[in-house]
Amino acid sequence: MTDGAASEQPHPHQIPSVLMTLSDGTKVKERLPRMRACNERNAKNKMCAGHLKRWYHLTDAARQQFGEEAELYRCERCHTIYLPNPGEPARSGTLAW
Ligand SMILES: [Zn+2]
Repeated sequence: MTDGAASEQPHPHQIPSVLMTLSDGTKVKERLPRMRACNERNAKNKMCAGHLKRWYHLTDAARQQFGEEAELYRCERCHTIYLPNPGEPARSGTLAW
């Protein structure tokens, strides 16, 4: 195998595309409704499947982008940030995952 070109072809209807990249290189995506596992794919096109957890300790780059009080989720494996889906009600905090 000699072709080093990027050959992955994500399916936009299934996989949330990366909305932006923070200044520290962290990818930001949007959660699908009731999504609980990361669907980011690694270099081998394997699903990350890391657990998405509410993220409270934002990095400086995230704080700059979303503000101190932002509701964010982060994959515990690859650290991709997920924004809450706009179609979902915000979590009250009593139903922690
Ligand atoms: Zn992940």
